[in-house]
Amino acid sequence: MSYDVVVIGAGPAGSCAALALARQGRMVAIVEKAEFPRRKVCGEFISATNIALLDRLGVGEKWRKKAGPEVRRVGLFAGDRCVTAAMPPAGDRGYGRALGRDILDNLLLAAAREAGATVFQPFRATDIIFAGENASIVRIASRDRELELQTPVVIAAHGSWEPGGLPSHLPKRNHPSDLLGFKAHFRRSALPADLMPLLVFPGGYGGMVIAHNGRLSLSCCIRRDRLAEMRRAQGGSAAEAVHRHIMASCKGVREAIGHALLDGQWLAAGPIRPGIRPCFADGIFRAGNCAGESHPIIAEGISMALQSGWLLAAALTGVDVHDHSAREAAAKLYSAAWLRQFSTRIHAAAAFAAVALNPAGAQAMGPLVGLLPGILPLGAALSGKTKALGSVSV
Ligand SMILES: Cc1cc2nc3c(=O)[nH]c(=O)nc-3n(C[C@H](O)[C@H](O)[C@H](O)COP(=O)(O)OP(=O)(O)OC[C@H]3O[C@@H](n4cnc5c(N)ncnc54)[C@H](O)[C@@H]3O)c2cc1C
Repeated sequence: MSYDVVVIGAGPAGSCAALALARQGRMVAIVEKAEFPRRKVCGEFISATNIALLDRLGVGEKWRKKAGPEVRRVGLFAGDRCVTAAMPPAGDRGYGRALGRDILDNLLLAAAREAGATVFQPFRATDIIFAGENASIVRIASRDRELELQTPVVIAAHGSWEPGGLPSHLPKRNHPSDLLGFKAHFRRSALPADLMPLLVFPGGYGGMVIAHNGRLSLSCCIRRDRLAEMRRAQGGSAAEAVHRHIMASCKGVREAIGHALLDGQWLAAGPIRPGIRPCFADGIFRAGNCAGESHPIIAEGISMALQSGWLLAAALTGVDVHDHSAREAAAKLYSAAWLRQFSTRIHAAAAFAAVALNPAGAQAMGPLVGLLPGILPLGAALSGKTKALGSVSV
């Protein structure tokens, strides 16, 4: 089977790129290994800077209908401190809101399919073979079938947290300072509907927000060595240890979910891989977390995934995808646009995470933010919460 473009992964990056490229009249295939709907380790907050993009993708109305309440306040829950401040506005588009990834990812993939993309799901991409300057073969497999998709353009949008055998996969790592991601949903929480607090606790950080139907989404990252210590001392599963630790460390979390009901299982993923990576290497374009990832302390990964998918499609507009040098020129354009759009927030997030993960820094954060609550909106602005994509068209 031959396509102009094969996209691997139907998270926000993959679906956005597939949709935008299908709209250009390209023959697009998108390959997703999981059956949808599926929950995912993610805080589920989407900044207001993406509302215009969601409209352009044709899912804005559905997103508005389903997403949780507007998040008008940011906060910090650290130890016994609970400080809040106004969320800086992102133009006249309103405020960011949270929507479960079980719903969002389904919406986006359905829109890509509607735009004309062929969806292979559940199919896992198992190999990418270079078959000359202008053709690659993407091998995909489901439980009972193996297929080969031939294409000049491969887009890796498979995320960054799982190791694998594709050239676009990151090498496996196992280091005591790795950050492992956790997430749970709760019902009947007492978190104010308009508040998204940052949680800072020994060995990690996290966040809480109300998503659709009043479901609270709690997500966090914790150091591998800290988690192992906690489990050695108190036993139990990793999720139980994380839950206990956050409750014991943050008064604001106890108040918000002390009487709430866990909705579904805790999920775990990682280690996460913050950093900036090449947008194009080994002849493969990369979008979303594959291209680069901010520490989730700033809750901008979905924004970056959506926006990078769009920027990549924009760079490929009008390009003869069968022309090697035209693809390389598009890759240069895309890389430059990517860095302009995302590098500041990736560096800012790394600095915030370093403070939160340093015991002295974490201790100082509460009192400092208490004295200067303006730091929270400034941090939100540095994190990209006011930086929209602008009028990049595809
Ligand atoms: C604790 C935590 C909290 C977070 N909170 C937020 C938040 O509140 N807001 C926010 O904006 N971001 C948040 N993020 C970041 C966000 O979750 C990610 O940045 C985002 O999901 C990246 O999107 P993506 O499309 O690049 O990849 P993903 O969402 O990871 O999607 C990749 C897709 O590819 C599929 N796939 C993988 N391998 C293959 C394969 N070989 N073949 C076929 N399919 C494959 C996967 O099944 C998946 O569906 C958080 C992250 C963590 C760890």
